[in-house]
Amino acid sequence: MNLNVLILGGTGDSLDLYKSLENQIPDLKVVLSEAGITAKQNKIKQNMRIGGFGGTDGLIEHLKSAQIDAVIDATHPFAAQITQHAVEACAAVGIPRLRLDRPQWILPTKTDVVFVPGIDEAARLVARTSSSAFLTIGRKYLSAFDAIEGPKLLVRLLEQPQEPLGLQNCTIITGRPPFDLTDEIALMREHQIDTLVSKASGGNATRAKIDAAAEIGARIILIRRPVPPDGDRVFSVNDAIEWVKSLES
Ligand code: NAP
Repeated sequence: MNLNVLILGGTGDSLDLYKSLENQIPDLKVVLSEAGITAKQNKIKQNMRIGGFGGTDGLIEHLKSAQIDAVIDATHPFAAQITQHAVEACAAVGIPRLRLDRPQWILPTKTDVVFVPGIDEAARLVARTSSSAFLTIGRKYLSAFDAIEGPKLLVRLLEQPQEPLGLQNCTIITGRPPFDLTDEIALMREHQIDTLVSKASGGNATRAKIDAAAEIGARIILIRRPVPPDGDRVFSVNDAIEWVKSLES
């Protein structure tokens, strides 16, 4: 049986999965879908689609017209909307769906870690308690910090913003994971960071900032992950490949 698999991507894991499936299951047809929100696109040219589907209904239409047999949702843990659309669309069309997730970070014990339910709580905590905070939360969530006047903000983004940010007292740097522990410690020391703000994304590629913050004694504020949907869920590319193989047999 020649299966037709759609990967919902936008993460390093989704790229790894795409390449591994191509290499390991030759008769599989696999298409990688990305939202296309960053200017820099990955180097895959074939079997790639870019841009939204148009909500759940648009995704349902796509699954039908492209004759997709299974969907692997390998999007970022905080991309809750597309994940919910995938749940609804796969159920409506009646095809299997797998969530490829990231293992949660095991957190260091030697520093203060505070979990908050959302970005607004993180911003309020920074305003109250920090004098120099490192924000590694992505462009989409930064406006919660617009009203903050006191603390210095070091903001790391994937690429320079197209439009000026509303933040005050901020320095913008760019960088793409994976990040190195020594570099992260040096960066945080240079900017005298006392607070790291991050989504509780998990995984290895951005883990170094957590260890770096612990090393320099900075407080870590983590925004809780959205609750993942019910259904099949794995935590490694290899297990996702096994899931696809199980569909073929
Ligand atoms: P989101 O809020 O869950 O999705 C917003 C909309 O973007 C979706 O409704 C969908 O548009 C479109 N979309 C998202 N992922 C798509 C995909 N893989 N293929 C086609 N369309 C997609 O997502 P987000 O938080 O804005 O993140 C956008 C993308 O960036 C995701 O693919 C995610 O994996 C990646 N990313 C997100 C974060 C983060 O912190 N949120 C971090 C790193 C990477 P339609 O409704 O029109 O279909």
